[in-house]
Amino acid sequence: MSNETIARVERDGDIAVIIVNNPPVNTITAAVRSGLSAALDQVAGLEGIRAVLLRCEGSTYFSGADIGEFNGPPKEAEYRELFARFEALAVPVVVAMHGTVMGGGLEIALACHYRVAAPGTRFGLPEVTLGIIPGGGGTQRTPRLIGIEKTLDMIIGARPVDVPTGLAYGFLDQAIEGDLATGALAYARQLVASGAGPRRTADRTVAPASNEVLERFAAQARKQYPNREAPFTAIEAVKASASLPLPEGLLLEDKLVNGAKLTPESLGAVHVFFAERETRKVVGLPPGEARPVKAGGIIGAGTMGGGIAMCFANAGIPVTVIDTSQEALDRGFKVIDGNYESMVKRGRLTPEDKAKRLALINGSLDYAALSRADVVIEAVFESMDLKKKIFTALDKACKPGAVLASNTSTLDVTEIARATSRPADVVGLHFFSPANVMPLLEIVRTELTGPQAIRTVMEFAKAIRKTPVLARVCYGFVGNRMMEGYAREAERMVLEGAEPRQVDHALEGWGMAMGILAVFDMAGVDVGTNVHKANADRYPPDPTYYQADFALVEAGRFGQKNGKGYYRYVPGDRARHDDPEALAILRARAAALKVPQREHTTHEILERCLYPLLNEGFRILEEGIVQRASDIDVVWTSGYGFPRYRGGPIHYAEQIGLKVLYEGMLRYAKEFGPMHWEPAPLLKQLASSGQTVAQWEQSARKA
Ligand code: NAD
Repeated sequence: MSNETIARVERDGDIAVIIVNNPPVNTITAAVRSGLSAALDQVAGLEGIRAVLLRCEGSTYFSGADIGEFNGPPKEAEYRELFARFEALAVPVVVAMHGTVMGGGLEIALACHYRVAAPGTRFGLPEVTLGIIPGGGGTQRTPRLIGIEKTLDMIIGARPVDVPTGLAYGFLDQAIEGDLATGALAYARQLVASGAGPRRTADRTVAPASNEVLERFAAQARKQYPNREAPFTAIEAVKASASLPLPEGLLLEDKLVNGAKLTPESLGAVHVFFAERETRKVVGLPPGEARPVKAGGIIGAGTMGGGIAMCFANAGIPVTVIDTSQEALDRGFKVIDGNYESMVKRGRLTPEDKAKRLALINGSLDYAALSRADVVIEAVFESMDLKKKIFTALDKACKPGAVLASNTSTLDVTEIARATSRPADVVGLHFFSPANVMPLLEIVRTELTGPQAIRTVMEFAKAIRKTPVLARVCYGFVGNRMMEGYAREAERMVLEGAEPRQVDHALEGWGMAMGILAVFDMAGVDVGTNVHKANADRYPPDPTYYQADFALVEAGRFGQKNGKGYYRYVPGDRARHDDPEALAILRARAAALKVPQREHTTHEILERCLYPLLNEGFRILEEGIVQRASDIDVVWTSGYGFPRYRGGPIHYAEQIGLKVLYEGMLRYAKEFGPMHWEPAPLLKQLASSGQTVAQWEQSARKA
């Protein structure tokens, strides 16, 4: 698209209207910036202009800066000069906003003189979540318009605000009902008629914030963003707006933002941002169309089936849920109803929308009700025999072309596919619990899965707003396979005398959303032991393997569901309490197994949990289970609570150094024996050659 089509100037009487159209979301790319610059040149050449209106076409006003430019040379000066040109115009400049106005999108508006927006527009400065700070004047102009406290609220809170808030805060002048272009033009005309001149943000001063305010936000930042610097850098920049004139404040902001871009937290978060956009691309898929998904089916109205049904209904797709009895269906529907009701109570859903969504979910005891389904997802008990029977029945009941999917966590999807006459249409769709909340969807293709089924489920994932990661069949797929060693060491350490709280605190302090032992209590400790019992033949000959789980379950401690697991719980509360009884059980098991007791530092807990996790990632990569290394990072950041600012397991491994990881594995192999500590061949290769993962991927792709 040429600059002229990206940004054009139309004249409406004495008003020059600059219109930008850069689909899909009007990102402020280099082309947009040069288009805007050319538009300003054009406006300067027009006679008799008394106001300028800036607006965007399409689904949204400028959604933000071009994050793709983060990796290149700094562009802030370019943004700054462009925005200053708008600010310096001698006639009033009005911006008309709609959609989602983030970061650079809001910053350009703040440099203009008057701001109006369509109802429903959302505004935000979410940069700290990417490890940086606003770099287009946001830390200096926002406080000039709304003061330091509200600015920090927007920047540290990093949550978008709506039009009423924008009006109350004072960065927004008017909400425009009806057609935005017409309303904004009328607004500009009124300004001209009233003789209003430019109203430059740069001319305003900022009242200094009290120490109490600054300390409050620092405390919020410590809590909301542990292990990160960007929020504190933002506070420093915003605070400076009270003492520095705008040009100097902007230079300070420039320096701080460019420093922030090089921090590990920014490199990690930006990596994940792009990694999530990559996962949808399927390498080597022949061109073709996805089949439309207009109706769905689910077998099993349990924990997962119910959550998956909500995913369909939330996307407006009717779905039929099948179970073995009316009681099972009723139980499942009660849970679904309860989940929607809690959304209504929290103001996330209107009662009307709840009713609409519930109306899309139907129950049946008869497979004939699936005759129209385009995707059917099986979510019954984890038994190969049962699943095969169900797939044979689905094969008979479903229309040709329907995708038949299993939500299995551990079973071989190829074997399930072979139970049908249409293995090309069979995939694994591994949702995570709660399925209606967790963004990750592992899509498992077998050697027999056809391209059209893959295309269809990729599109389907988009429709139900999931982050799909395509994987090949292996035990545990990507996420659970990598969890095996991570959890094994956590459990082993509690047998060696570490307290559950100590292990979980170490992991949470490092950034995991929840310590793994607390996760087991939440998911059900018995769920883990059942999986381990069913797969005992796969596991290495280690008598201590997952014995902490077994000891607790054998003593009747199943986790949160019965109030005791690794921790103790009181009814109606999920808070974990240390429990001497659990410790005694663990100590007794350790003594019976003759596990040597030792002290554990936080450093050791982290290394012993994380190294096996990272190491397994390199095996998965080398085996070609995933399409690309960054897919592994997405699995862990979107499905397992791995901190985004650490970039996911493979990115993090490179951050700490592959040699460090490799040598760490060898160190523990020496101490505990090689059974669990064999470095992945690919890790060894990269650690000794010095090749990066990206370089290896490139050479592997060529080969
Ligand atoms: P669940 O026990 O909560 O639900 C299973 C449901 O299947 C029950 O309602 C049961 O009545 C029904 N069912 C059993 N046999 C049936 C049949 N022949 N026809 C129709 N319905 C039948 O189980 P869940 O936790 O929802 O797990 C379901 C599947 O999802 C399993 O394969 C599990 O491994 C997998 N999974 C579970 C989780 C999780 O966290 N719970 C996460 C990912 C995947």
